[in-house]
Amino acid sequence: MKRVYNFSAGPSMLPLEVLEQASKEMTSYGDTGMSVMEMSHRSKAYQEIIDTTEATLREIMAIPDNYKVLFLQGGASTQFAMIPLNLMNGSNKADFVNTGAWTKKAIAEAKKYGQVNVLASSEDQTYNYIPKLDKSTFTPDADYFYIASNNTIYGTKMNALPDTGDVPIVADMSSNILSEEMDVSKYGVIFAGAQKNMGPAGVTIVIIREDLIGNAMDITPTMLNYKTHADKGSMFNTPPTYSIYIAGLVFKWIKDMGGVKAIQARNEEKASLLYDYFDSSKLFKGTVVKEDRSLMNIPFVLPTDELNAKFIAEAAKRDFVNLKGHRSVGGMRASIYNAMPVEGVKKLVEFMKEFEAEHAE
Ligand SMILES: *Cc1c(COP(=O)(O)O)cnc(C)c1O
Repeated sequence: MKRVYNFSAGPSMLPLEVLEQASKEMTSYGDTGMSVMEMSHRSKAYQEIIDTTEATLREIMAIPDNYKVLFLQGGASTQFAMIPLNLMNGSNKADFVNTGAWTKKAIAEAKKYGQVNVLASSEDQTYNYIPKLDKSTFTPDADYFYIASNNTIYGTKMNALPDTGDVPIVADMSSNILSEEMDVSKYGVIFAGAQKNMGPAGVTIVIIREDLIGNAMDITPTMLNYKTHADKGSMFNTPPTYSIYIAGLVFKWIKDMGGVKAIQARNEEKASLLYDYFDSSKLFKGTVVKEDRSLMNIPFVLPTDELNAKFIAEAAKRDFVNLKGHRSVGGMRASIYNAMPVEGVKKLVEFMKEFEAEHAE
C-alpha cells in the first residue's frame, strides 16, 4: 500500500488508523449487514453513531452543557451567512478582524444583513501577521465579534482572544479546531468545516451557546436557522451521515492519543521542527511574523520562484505532496494538521536540509 506524506491544506490527510477502521466496517457496520452510507439516518444504529460522535467531541473539547453541537452542511462558507442571519438581531452591528481571505468573505456576506465594523486588518502585508486591536474601537453594543482563529492560507494564528466584555466572540476554527486546548466558554459560536482537522468534507461543526439560538431574522431560510437544527438534534433533514461517522472515528482517535492536550504537544513539536529549521537556514524562510505563527499551516519560501518550483517538484518525487503555497502567497505551504505524524515533518526537514546543501552558494 502506498501512502504519501500529504501536506494538503484541505481536504487533508486522515489518521491511517481511522481509514483502516472505516475500511473494516465499509460493507457491514457491526452486525447491521450494511455500510454506514446505506443506513437510514433515523435508524437506531445511526442514532448511536451520531450520539457517540457528539459525546466524544464534547468530552475532548470539554464543551459546557449550555452549548449545542450541530452537524450542518454547506461548508464553513455557509456560516458566513448563517452567523449574521442568526446573531445580528439586536443593534444589527458586528465587529470583525480581517486576517485573510476567509474573514474577507465573511465580512462581505455579513454586510448584506447589517452594519459591519472592520476593526483592524493585515491585508497591507498579505496577511502575514495578526493586527493589534484597540479596545476603544470596539462597538460596545455589537451583536457579536468575529475572528478567524487560524488563517489557513497565510499561516497565522490569533494567540490572544480580545476582551469583548458581553459581546459574544464568533470564531472560524476551520483549520485549527482540536489542534490545541481551547476554552469553549470564552466563545459564543465556534464553527469549522470538517475537511481540515476532523474528517472528510461534507459536515460543518457548529458549537453554539444556547442563548444565541432562537433570535434569527425573519427572512432567515429555515435551513439556515440554527434553531431548526438545534431542535431536531441535527436531524431536521438528512445529515451528512458518512462524514459524521468518520469525524466520530477521528474524535475517538484523538481521545485514544491522550486527548487534545497530548495532540497539542505533538503539534507544537511538529511546528517547532519546521520553524527552528527556518530560523537557522540560509535558504528556507518562513513568511509569517514570529509571534503569530500557526501550528497547522506553515508557509515558507526559497530565494527565487525557480527554486520554489524545483523544491516542490523534487519533494513530490520523494512522496511529500501538496506543498505548493496558495496562489495569493506563492512559495510553499506545509499543512501539518493533527493527522500528520511527527515522522512526516522530520523527514520533510531532512529533505530540506539536503536541498539546502545542494543549493548552497
Ligand atoms: C477552508 C476554510 C474555509 C472554507 O471552508 P468550506 O468548508 O470550503 O466552506 C473557511 N474558513 C477557513 C479558516 C478555512 O480554512
